[in-house]
Amino acid sequence: MSKSGKIFVISCSGIGKALGTVGRTAMYEVVEKLRPNEATTVCLPLITIGDETVLKLVRTNSCISVDGCPFQCARKNIEASKGKLVASFMVTDVLRENRGLKPEGVIELNPKGLKLASRLAEKIVRQIDETNKNR
Ligand code: SF4
Repeated sequence: MSKSGKIFVISCSGIGKALGTVGRTAMYEVVEKLRPNEATTVCLPLITIGDETVLKLVRTNSCISVDGCPFQCARKNIEASKGKLVASFMVTDVLRENRGLKPEGVIELNPKGLKLASRLAEKIVRQIDETNKNR
């Protein structure tokens, strides 16, 4: 199915960090389960290396960045590539709002980390619905 016309939810790589895993888990929850017809994703490194096909997609479709921490690698790469960024989320912000849900684990998140990812996924979904309403 074509990716064009969908909202791109792009998470940072966050390798070796539970916060990065939470961001990726939330992103997959959105694009695979909650809004598969409205949202899709793409590998962040393809934006970083300037892949022409991917650059065209992120410049012509709305993008939402999902970052593990304040370095905001996804947001910065989308912005630097002139992507159409409509919103950005950080796992650390959601963790501040849900202090009891401390994520642990990198390959496999603990139950609290999974719950935190679901809270983040709910926020992303609200943003997707809002963006689509205003299109
Ligand atoms: S935003 Fe933070 S967790 Fe994500 S890739 Fe960058 S440094 Fe790693």
